[in-house]
Amino acid sequence: MADIPFSCSCGTVKGALVDVDRKAGSRITCYCKDCQTAARALGRSDLLGARGGTAIYQTTPAHIAITEGAEQLACLRLSRKGLMRWYADCCNTPLFNTLAHAKLCFAGVLLHTVAPDARGALGPLTAATFTESAAGDGPPVRKHGFAKTGYNIVRRHLRAKLGGAASMAPFFDAQGAPTCTPRILTLEERNAARP
Ligand SMILES: [Zn+2]
Ligand SMILES: [Zn+2]
Repeated sequence: MADIPFSCSCGTVKGALVDVDRKAGSRITCYCKDCQTAARALGRSDLLGARGGTAIYQTTPAHIAITEGAEQLACLRLSRKGLMRWYADCCNTPLFNTLAHAKLCFAGVLLHTVAPDARGALGPLTAATFTESAAGDGPPVRKHGFAKTGYNIVRRHLRAKLGGAASMAPFFDAQGAPTCTPRILTLEERNAARP
């Protein structure tokens, strides 16, 4: 188990992934249009990887500790449905994804916040999802691991509940309310940011 530092692009928001390894989470790359739209809506398409991919470490909130700049944590939603996309207000860096409610112990950590040479401790890439939406030209991306990704999210949720590590901080309070009110894109804003 290791503690791996993360930060937003400007360094105002800092923290660590606590006690993490290949079992505490799964590394995936998501090529879906919504992940690309979220980055573009924040003006941060520079953070997307090859073919528009978003590298994510799927884990539980208990493994995420923000140590500096927590007041900069803001939240975006592409519509009234779908994920809460948490970002750093200081420099519009996408940081985390969660569901819109606190019932599932799940959080995705966007790995552009972690130094490349530190990502190895998080285990190997286990899935590439929604590869049919990969952007631009280049060799096809092989889709794999989607079912296992869902299985692992449920497995970690149950383990967090049973192990008393079900706190949803810093995203939701003990009553399950989000710690900030998400900004919801208008249809026009969303369409303008679509890849
Ligand atoms: Zn920042
Ligand atoms: Zn996605």
